[in-house]
Amino acid sequence: AEANAEEENDKLKFRSPVVTVMGHVDHGKTRLLDAIRNTNVIEGEAGGITQHIGAYQIHTEVGGEERYLTFIDTPGHEAFTAMRARGAKVTDIAILVVAADDGVMPQTVEALNHAQAADVPIVVAVNKIDKEGASPDKIRGQLTEYGLVPEEYGGDTLFVDVSARQSLNIDELLEAVVLTADGALELKANPNKEARGVAIEANLDKGRGAVATVLVQSGTLRVGDAIVAGVAHGRVRAMFDENGNNVEEAGPSRPVQVLGLSTVPRAGDTFLATEEERTARQIAEKREAADRNAQLAKRRKRVTLESFDEAVAEGKMDTLNLIIKGDVSGAVEALEESLMKIDAGGDEVQLRVIHRGVGAITQNDVNLATVDNAVIIGFNVRPAERVAELADREGVEMKFYSVIYRAIEEIEQAVKGMLKPEYEEVELGSAEVREVFRSSKWGNIAGSIVRDGLIKRNANARLVRDGSVVAEKLKIESLRRFKDDATEVREGYECGIGLGSFNDIKEGDIIETWEMREKPRV
Ligand code: GDP
Repeated sequence: AEANAEEENDKLKFRSPVVTVMGHVDHGKTRLLDAIRNTNVIEGEAGGITQHIGAYQIHTEVGGEERYLTFIDTPGHEAFTAMRARGAKVTDIAILVVAADDGVMPQTVEALNHAQAADVPIVVAVNKIDKEGASPDKIRGQLTEYGLVPEEYGGDTLFVDVSARQSLNIDELLEAVVLTADGALELKANPNKEARGVAIEANLDKGRGAVATVLVQSGTLRVGDAIVAGVAHGRVRAMFDENGNNVEEAGPSRPVQVLGLSTVPRAGDTFLATEEERTARQIAEKREAADRNAQLAKRRKRVTLESFDEAVAEGKMDTLNLIIKGDVSGAVEALEESLMKIDAGGDEVQLRVIHRGVGAITQNDVNLATVDNAVIIGFNVRPAERVAELADREGVEMKFYSVIYRAIEEIEQAVKGMLKPEYEEVELGSAEVREVFRSSKWGNIAGSIVRDGLIKRNANARLVRDGSVVAEKLKIESLRRFKDDATEVREGYECGIGLGSFNDIKEGDIIETWEMREKPRV
């Protein structure tokens, strides 16, 4: 095996890093991707990159060496989260864009959390330095608090001041990406085998059928190869690059658009080339069946407000994660605040709002709910149709409310239900037996008078004679006032009490009753 591993090692060749651009909205992610795309076009492409296929490759010179970089062309961490939710690791390096005139914002933090959680090294692009009021130093200070310490402060994160609008320092940024990749990662792949990789985006084209952009991660994909991507399969009919040019083969870290698949794969689906088309089809069919089973299994594993207490009782869960979306920020805040006041039981069980926001429920919300096993609470908002489909597929529960207290009530019930309730004995009252009647249907009936409290049908009972308990674990099986059935009879009233098959009742006996009640929570 060792010899094999060594042999395998020999075949590994360097591959270029795959980069995702993340950051807060409006901080310039799209603009930066444009600037990178336009300044460093692959040789011979005078017209620049013209097609959006979901990823593109550029080249840059670092230390006199020609280096390639692959960019995922969907800005933001939505795509990143979507892929990760599907178990695909596509990104090697993340560029975190922070506008120098704005600073670290919620989505900046979210993005860096995602990258750090996935062990993806970060390069910081401090953007918009052309703007008045831009303060790159402030950004460096702020990010230090999140563990991104600039190299110039003695840390190991590279910060580059850029202007996406003026295409300023783009080459420096690319160099920082290459240096970070070289320093932190060993990016190698064997190009001489059947291709494997990940579908990045896909759509159905009226004329061309299923069109999928795939990122080759190892091996080399060629026109004519049989492939399977997710549950889609087929033979590669044609391949195109980001310039709309025909491509005959694509090696590691190369994104290409592929025609010839039977259906549209999903972003994050893995693909592989097989020797025979039949094999590809069989794998696709197996995956489809496995998908169905996995979906059922997932459903069972996913938390819902209703199943939460069960999961807690089984020791599988102790925190109810929630994502709150609402139509206005006031409602979202009010809801979160009230939820935080729910006493879920302290250490035993917790309620946690992992994400909140204003606006419709998005695909990203569902993906987050998938990763962190959360229930989505929609207050006066609804999901788009494909978002609802995704939630359904992933078994993510979405609950919709238009009245805040209804939401609070249901969530409170969910978290409290999971605490095993404690019961205690509560004395109800007692009755003195005045006369014993014989009933063919009920056995002996104790004609009694309620001395204190009340007598309740179905309550527990014990029989006291001459001051000592003569029978325990009895039950008030029947209770009557005159000829009518009664559910309870109060102090001072006469009634007929039947104790089921227990017939040893005498005049002067005392029947005491009690019931088990859930202990009130403090
Ligand atoms: P995204 O939401 O992060 O993708 O942000 P965009 O790329 O759409 O940029 C948001 C706005 O900031 C747009 O109006 C851009 O023109 C502007 N912008 C982006 N980069 C720069 C920059 O370097 N300097 C200036 N002055 N404006 C920029």
